[in-house]
Amino acid sequence: MAFTLTLNGEYLRPEIVCDQCGAAVAAGGFHLSRLDYDHSLSPDQPAHQVCGEACYEAFADARPLDEEWFAIPLDAYLANLINALDIDPEAVLARERALTVTEHTRDEAPE
Ligand SMILES: [Zn+2]
Repeated sequence: MAFTLTLNGEYLRPEIVCDQCGAAVAAGGFHLSRLDYDHSLSPDQPAHQVCGEACYEAFADARPLDEEWFAIPLDAYLANLINALDIDPEAVLARERALTVTEHTRDEAPE
């Protein structure tokens, strides 16, 4: 699992770290799943993410499977997940900003 949180000052910044090289994964990275030879997805799907094609190949070469590794572009994986979970990104970010403002106002209020 390569989803991490980094404390950036007082804010938590979510990131995805490459399971092969440890670099930050950008939108051009890949989410990896196991694909059986009959082209069904394995129910045993550890979550792996890599930063690009070179790390995908190195990751797969280092971890040979009875099945094969299947890579879906990370942006497609996340966009489909957001859609499947019926998440409204703008509404969520607005809610988080409002929460931060409320916490700051509370912290700065005289006691
Ligand atoms: Zn990498």
